[in-house]
Amino acid sequence: LLKRVIKAEKLEVVSHLAASISHEVRNPLTTTKGFLQLLREEDISQKKKEKYIEISLNELDRATNIIKDYLTFARPEAEDNHSIDIHSELRNCINVLTPLAQMENVQFKESFSSENIFVLGDPLKLKQSLINILKNGIESYSAGGSIEVSTSKDHSSIKIVISDHGKGMTEDQVLRLGEPYFSTKSNGTGLGMMVSFSIVKAMNGQIYVKSEPGAGTSFTIFLPIYLKSER
Ligand code: ADP
Ligand code: MG
Repeated sequence: LLKRVIKAEKLEVVSHLAASISHEVRNPLTTTKGFLQLLREEDISQKKKEKYIEISLNELDRATNIIKDYLTFARPEAEDNHSIDIHSELRNCINVLTPLAQMENVQFKESFSSENIFVLGDPLKLKQSLINILKNGIESYSAGGSIEVSTSKDHSSIKIVISDHGKGMTEDQVLRLGEPYFSTKSNGTGLGMMVSFSIVKAMNGQIYVKSEPGAGTSFTIFLPIYLKSER
């Protein structure tokens, strides 16, 4: 049984994606500035100094992570539609993440349908969307594992399944997935899934998730196939 996770009210938030980035990044920067100003004062203890530095570094990490989840690849305000070879796009995402996966002892396993399949969309946005999902898969493991990426044709759609056998999610967590700022990670942004869902939705696709605590998570994405006659 696949549970649908895209919710209309969540997606409205995302139509303002471009505008929200500067806002998101400004908060941690403002906090960091405040603590750096405090550090200038002469009569603060070493202990406090260390604390302020620690907070500042964490806030800077946060700003970096927000930028990574939003726009490593795509400019949200731009709309640049092309015909995308889905398998080469998936291979490309896997290549981009392989160094990170190797550090975490995680292996990717591909099982792609043999046909060449194309979808219509902004290739950089699609990449951002897939990478955010794959990255969560890597982060679901504490001591390594594997992530399966498979594709198959399903009527007029391509079905992409991305599964891990990591820590999984409770039902409550699944329901909150895609909600801005929902994160269970100490350095999480809670923005990655929101970005992924909005991009799939913009491509007229659908995304479903199935998860079980301790057993793993699988995302199923359907994207309309872009036919040769339309290209
Ligand atoms: P972040 O990764 O910064 O926490 P995301 O929006 O990417 O934000 O994900 C939100 C939350 O959803 C994560 O913190 C995690 O709790 C949960 N999650 C997403 N994908 C997975 C997964 N593959 N396995 C387990 N939990 C996941
Ligand atoms: Mg994430």
